[in-house]
This record gives sequence, structure tokens and C-alpha cells, in this order.
Amino acid sequence: MRLEALRADITRLKVDAIVNAANNSLLGGGGVDGAIHRSAGPELLEECRALHGCETGQAKITAGYRLPASYVIHTVGPVWTGGEQGEADLLRSCYVSSLRLAAGHGVRSMAFPSISTGVYGYPIERAACIAVDAVVGLAGQPGMPEYVVFCCFSEEDLAVYRKLLG
Ligand code: ADP
Repeated sequence: MRLEALRADITRLKVDAIVNAANNSLLGGGGVDGAIHRSAGPELLEECRALHGCETGQAKITAGYRLPASYVIHTVGPVWTGGEQGEADLLRSCYVSSLRLAAGHGVRSMAFPSISTGVYGYPIERAACIAVDAVVGLAGQPGMPEYVVFCCFSEEDLAVYRKLLG
């Protein structure tokens, strides 16, 4: 598996699957979720309605519609409330669940946004550490994507990921 951090708008990436940092309703929101729904078009919301939400730490897959990506993997990160409410395990579970779902759909390349570090308030250094560790931990397993990109929206986030990836 090849891992990379890039600064980009995730909706522009030509990968097999992009991950959405969604909320429990899966009915759209702000941040990266809003951007993905705007770019994918209304059919994405239609498919999401039929999924009846998603639990925190879990993931569900849809088509990508008007996005360059074939699939969107919707995962729900934890809201940061200080770290004592299982936030780290839930965040790790988002990456693991998303990767397993991707592997099950033959995804060869995928992009993650920085889950939970926007409106949900997870500190970026801690979140990035969990993200990289979770992905590296699954890298050897059968069917995993050969290319995974951590798609950062800011230069600061990119610096954090680049440092972790070495
Ligand atoms: P959460 O609610 O999980 O915190 P947010 O969407 O608020 O989700 O933020 C998650 C991360 O996604 C933040 O780093 C934010 O800057 C970033 N982000 C927002 N829009 C985009 C986009 N179009 N492409 C990639 N990342 C984005």
C-alpha cells in the first residue's frame, strides 16, 4: 500500500472512492459533507435516505454520481468532548470500517478527509496519528487498496500528516 498526504479538495480527486466525514443522519451537513453532496448531485442524497443513518465509528457506501470517484464511503466520526468518551477508538473505527468496506468493493485507490477535525473539534495531531496508525495497521491485509491518500484542506493539516508519514 502506498500512502500519501495531499492538500486538495476531496471532491476533485480521481480515486475509486472518497470518504465522507458525515453525521449520523447521512442526510448532509456542512464542511466536507456539504461539498461532497454539492459535487455529487441530488442522487447522492436520495441513495443516502435509503440507508437510514449510520452509527458513529461505522461506515456505509454509495455511488459517487457526478463525482470523479465511483464510490463515496460515508463514515461518522466522534464529536471531541475531551477524549474520555471513547473518541480515539471511535475515530480508529471510522478508518478501519471504511477500509474494510473499500476492500469489499474492490476499491484500489481511496482518499480520506481529516475525519472529526473540523466542526467535531478533534485535535488534529491526535486525529492524524490515529488515522495513519489505523491505515498502516491494515495495509498488509488481503484486498486492501493499493493507494490511500490523506486529503488535507489546510497547509497546517498537511504539515501534520507529512511529518507522521515521514
Ligand atoms: P467533522 O464534522 O467530521 O469535523 P468537517 O467537514 O467539519 O467534519 O471537517 C473535516 C475536515 O474536512 C476538516 O479538516 C475540513 O477542513 C475538511 N474539509 C472541508 N471541506 C473539504 C473538502 N472539500 N475537501 C477536503 N477536506 C475538506
